[in-house]
This record gives sequence, structure tokens and C-alpha cells, in this order.
Amino acid sequence: MTHYIFIAGGVMSGIGKGVTTASIGRILKSKGFRVTALKIDPYVNVDAGTMNPKEHGEVFVTEDGTECDQDVGNYERFLDQNLKTVNYITTGRVYQAVISRERNLGYGGKCVEVVPHIPLEVISRIKKVSAANKADFCLIEIGGTVGEYQNLLFLEAARMMKLQHPKNVVFVLVSYLPIPKMIGEMKTKPTQYAVRSLNMAGLQPDIIIARAQVPLDVPRKKKISIFCNISEKDIISAPDVKSIYEIPVNFEKDNLGNRILKKFGMKAKRDDLRDWKKLVRIIKNPTGTIKIGIVGKYFKTGKFTLMDSYISVIEAVKHACSKYKIQPSISWLDSETYEKSPNSIKELNKFGGIIVPGGFGNRGVEGKIKAIRYCRVNKIPFLGLCLGMQLAVIEFARNVCKIKSANSTEFSKNCQGVIDLMPEQKKNLEKKNYGGTMRLGSYKCKIKKGTKAWKNYKKEYISERHRHRYELNNKFKTLLERKGMIMSGVNPETNLVEIVEISNHPFFVATQFHPEFQSRPLRPHPLFVGFIKQAIKKSRQKN
Ligand code: GLN
Repeated sequence: MTHYIFIAGGVMSGIGKGVTTASIGRILKSKGFRVTALKIDPYVNVDAGTMNPKEHGEVFVTEDGTECDQDVGNYERFLDQNLKTVNYITTGRVYQAVISRERNLGYGGKCVEVVPHIPLEVISRIKKVSAANKADFCLIEIGGTVGEYQNLLFLEAARMMKLQHPKNVVFVLVSYLPIPKMIGEMKTKPTQYAVRSLNMAGLQPDIIIARAQVPLDVPRKKKISIFCNISEKDIISAPDVKSIYEIPVNFEKDNLGNRILKKFGMKAKRDDLRDWKKLVRIIKNPTGTIKIGIVGKYFKTGKFTLMDSYISVIEAVKHACSKYKIQPSISWLDSETYEKSPNSIKELNKFGGIIVPGGFGNRGVEGKIKAIRYCRVNKIPFLGLCLGMQLAVIEFARNVCKIKSANSTEFSKNCQGVIDLMPEQKKNLEKKNYGGTMRLGSYKCKIKKGTKAWKNYKKEYISERHRHRYELNNKFKTLLERKGMIMSGVNPETNLVEIVEISNHPFFVATQFHPEFQSRPLRPHPLFVGFIKQAIKKSRQKN
């Protein structure tokens, strides 16, 4: 029987509900249970693929090809488990399913109503995920903040589930306790209101995770306990931390895992956070720092920062650094600067290594190509990801193969399209069929022996996640190879190029896929590890 834990946020957004959910998952896993996690995004968008990363953060991709919220990435990293399409629910998806069932007479002529049919669809999805994973625990994170109109139907689903299985549902509220400067004291009132809002939806929190700058003191816990109708033991301090990976360890200081188990009348099967604690010790006590530059187009951000848009890349860098017991110092480098003032490109020398990550649209592209050329010529460790790989190929075609007008047809219609669309993608674009139609999810790749990719992966077949429309045009493959570009990874079924690299360089590797999506704190991604290793070497040589 699965036990369900709903997690919702109070007071305000951006207080780390996703990482809280992921941390609860890690703790329960460390106590010997099977865990799965599910994100509910209260958007009418069917998936996150059509959402602007400036507004919604990174679009994470599951192995079976769903474009979802970045929190699913957090779950994967903390649980060290692959999740699937079913682990992501949006309002759009729920309505789409209900409407299509109605059109097929699936409701047998009944009036289909928002309540109960929408919450019932949500519940059936939650149960399906749990059954498919044979999970002891299913964590369900409800996006948004309690009191919002948008997530009411999901809270309603939680209420109905609690009614159906009173002993099998626990509700966690992640709240925030501000310390206003002019008062200088931690205030509990916003949390009290959040709990009232939850009560109005027919729900009472079983656990409150109290996010704040510092841990809660006894008077604060007492106050929340009395006003929010909850035992002091179920109020868990969640102070600000340096590294998100510290959070499960901190929660355990307040005994969160056992408090949750107690609610379900269960006991831990084991208790093993050792590996995790070791990782946290390394992260908190690094032996040095490595400077990594990420070259991208600068964009003014809305709700999210640049970091949010590339969270998996940043985490992958951190994971690889922890293997060498060092910490990264990451700088965002605006590629348009290299277009406007070419001399500034020399700043790349300051870094141990440079990453050009994924992206869309042609702004800043020429600056990125200049940066890649600089890394190639000056032997600066370089890792290209998706668009970063496409631009590495364009740079090589222009400057080494002397194809002057080499480009991607994404950026120029009258060019030598060394990067181009496959026929089925042309059709998608003609029909404005944008949603969920990129090349998405995991594809197999065969690694060429003796290459850098081979040296790092140490195996012949790998599988990595994709999110792109354009590909290296195989018409140019022979020429590129003749001039020294190595196609070190190729999809064995479609013959599409997945990894390119060059020899005679400490590390110049670029991938059409996104390796960052599979990097885990305790299992850093081999390509990131290889890249960081060479970046460390370069910085040591310089010093
Ligand atoms: N814009 C490129 C494409 O669609 C690259 C996408 C990416 O970097 N994720 O193929």
C-alpha cells in the first residue's frame, strides 16, 4: 500500500518546496523505503516545453521525453532515480484528459463537472504513478501557494484522498517566517494565515516545514503550535543553507523522517544517510576553487534568474567538482560582449574551463562562436551542450573547413546548413506544431573507441536525453572529419551525430544531447568529470 505525502507552500513562492520535497524523498529512501515523487504545476500549459525559461526556469526532460518543471530534476538528483512523464501533472494535462474522455462518451452521458471530475482525474493519476513504481511513499508537490485560486482543485484532490484513506495521507506545509529588519524578530503571523487558508480548503497540516534565515527558537515553535494546531515536534526548522544538499541532513536534526513515519504508524527499516553526509562534508569543506565560465546570451529575467534556467548544468558542475573535493566559482559571460568588443574575449583565459550550454534563437550566437574558437585555438577546456555543440560544428566548418557561410538553418535561411532540420521537423514547423515535438528524451549513442568520450564514459553504448530540433547535417560529415573533427558518438539507428570532439586539445567535447540531466550528486556525469579534471589541470598550470 502506498502512503501519500502532499507538500504545499504557504506565505510566498520561491522558498524551496521542490528541494524540500526532494529532501523528504531522500530521507525516506535512506530509511529503506521505495519512493516516488510527482510535481503538480497549476498551469494550463500542457507541459513546460512551451514556457519561457525566463518565467518558469529550466525545462527539464525525462528519459521518456516529457518537458517538465525543474523540480522534477531536483527529485531525480536527490532520489537518484529516473522519473517519467507520469510524474508530472499540469492543469492543462488534467483538463485535456477529462475533455477527451468526455468526447469519447467515457462518462456515459453524465454531466461532467469541475468538482468532482477534475480532482478525481488528479487522484487517479497519483494512484497510477504510485502503483507503477510499487512505491511505499508517493510525494506530491502542489505548485503555487495555498490561497491561490489556481491550485484549489489540487488541494481538493488532497482533501478527497484524505477522506478516502485517512491513515494514508499526510499533509506538509512549507511556510516562510520573515525577520523584518525594522522589527528584528521572526514573525509567525504569515504562517498562521497560511494554515488558516489551508483549513478553509478542508485541510490541516500534519507537519510544518518552517523556512527562515535561522532555525526556529522555542517561543516561535510554541506559538505556531498553539495557533496552527500542531505539535511542536512536527514543526521542522529549515534555515537558509549554503548548499541545497545539506537540507536532508538538517531536516533529520529535527527528526523529520521518523515524525513522518510515526504519522503512518511505521518504523524505519534502516537509517543510512552516510554517503549523503559525506558529500555534504566535502561540499562544505572544499580544498580549493575552480573558475568555470558559462557563455550565454544575457537575458533580463522575470521571476527566475539565469541560474534557474540552467540549474541542471550548474548542479552537474557542482557534482563533478565534489569528486575532486573542490568548489566551482561560476561566472555568467554575456556572449554579445564578444561581438561588440572583440578584445574582451581574452577574459576566457581566466577560467579553468568554458561551457556553452543549450539555447534557442540567434541573439548572441556569433559571440558564442567566437568564444568557442578562442577555446579551440588557445586550448581552454571546452564543453558544448546541445546548441553549444551545434555552434562548435559551425565554428569548425567556418574556420577550419573554410566554409565561409556555414551556419544553422535556425539562424540563417541562406547559408550552408551544416546544422539543419530533419524532414519531420520541417513538417512540424510548417504546421506550427510546436508543443512536445522536438527530438525529446533518451536516445542510444555508440561511442567510438579511443576518443575522449570513450575515455570518460568507459563504455561503448550510452543513452542520453535530448531537447532540440536541429542536427548536424550528415552531408558535411566527411569533410568535417577529414579536417580533424572527430564524431565520437553516433546514434546507431539513425546515424545522427551525438558527440563531436577534436584531438590535440586537453578537452574539447560537445554533445547534441544534454548530459546535465543525468548527473547526480553521488554519481557525477562522466563528461562533466572529464571536463572539470582538465579545467583543474589548466588552472594549476597557470598558477
Ligand atoms: N536551438 C537548437 C535546436 O533546436 C538547440 C536547442 C538546445 O540547445 N536545447 O536544435
